[in-house]
Amino acid sequence: MIETKAYAAQDEKTPLAPWTFERREVGPHDVQFDILFCGVCHSDLHQIKNDWFPGIFPMVPGHEIVGRVVKVGAHVKNFKVGDLAATGCMVDSCQVCENCKQDLEQYCLEGSTQTYNSMERDKSMPTYGGYSNTIVVREEFVLQLKEGVDLAAVAPLLCAGITTYSPLKHWKVGKGHKLAVLGLGGLGHMGVKFGVAFGAEVTVLSTSASKEEDAKKLGAHHFIVTKDAEQVKAAMGTFDFILDTVSAPHDFNMYLSLLRTNGTMICVGVPSEPASVAAFSLLGGRKSLAGSGIGGIKETQEMLDYCADNNIVSDIELIDIKDIQTAYERMEKGNVRYRFVIDMATL
Ligand code: NAP
Ligand code: ZN
Repeated sequence: MIETKAYAAQDEKTPLAPWTFERREVGPHDVQFDILFCGVCHSDLHQIKNDWFPGIFPMVPGHEIVGRVVKVGAHVKNFKVGDLAATGCMVDSCQVCENCKQDLEQYCLEGSTQTYNSMERDKSMPTYGGYSNTIVVREEFVLQLKEGVDLAAVAPLLCAGITTYSPLKHWKVGKGHKLAVLGLGGLGHMGVKFGVAFGAEVTVLSTSASKEEDAKKLGAHHFIVTKDAEQVKAAMGTFDFILDTVSAPHDFNMYLSLLRTNGTMICVGVPSEPASVAAFSLLGGRKSLAGSGIGGIKETQEMLDYCADNNIVSDIELIDIKDIQTAYERMEKGNVRYRFVIDMATL
């Protein structure tokens, strides 16, 4: 077993603190890599708080993981010691169901194995995430990175990046479309970057007037403060797509009214409470309400390559791991610009 240093939550009420545990030995199909940077996703906060379901504790969060390979199993083909490596939200899946066969492992019919707060496929032990010094992952779920990239700023692509890239690709959002990105946080700022890169006319819908300048710097064409009734009224019936990245309960009916006929609101944010949606909000204008979960491994690699080729990274604030609670508190208040990334050298 591999002795591993980490920060863990011992239960849903206790702040994260140093903890050690053992990872499995490197199997024939596994890659072990030492973690250099790990992004901080709002899903980490939801899960340590038991927002969605009772979690598995102690919990080591973190699913935006980049580092360097230190050991490979005998049958590993695509990685060698010293290579860069990355892992996102999944570390395994059944790999034989119809969704896995179509490179949609995130929708594995048996349930994909999450990077943390999940059980290994043989149910022998829980999975532990990237707020740790090293990780062992089967090769199929390890992503490749190009040398020379800004590793800290690349880390958030593993979740915030793919979660916004995948739906924009699926719904073919691009030239001629008016896209609204709802919520300018970790996911939202990546949604803006991809929307602009794909040629859409992008509007940020935000509760924070103070983010307007940043939104424009990120490439957004327009900015609407959703607390301003006049601005919201003027935008009614105007968007082809709304990418909803909001982490807290909000009024779906109000946002659906901003779609034009045949428009689609795509939920990627996962508030702890279910939303109430009136049928009238959808039928007037034949609107669609949809959702999307991260992205498959093949698409994640495609997104990483696309970002490397087009100089797209996340805008980050690099933090020491001892400051993780402060980062969570700021994230809870919507005060993240636009992704915290932990420098794992501080562990
Ligand atoms: P984040 O960085 O905290 O950003 C969320 C943003 O939502 C905030 O910055 C804020 O933006 C806005 N917001 C917060 N509370 C709000 C409220 N009450 N009403 C309206 N807007 C509000 O979070 P994140 O890491 O981007 O994650 C966003 C959500 O996506 C989380 O629920 C997370 O669990 C989920 N997620 C889903 C997937 C998936 O596969 N679908 C993957 C990763 C994360 P403004 O200041 O601009 O209003
Ligand atoms: Zn995430």
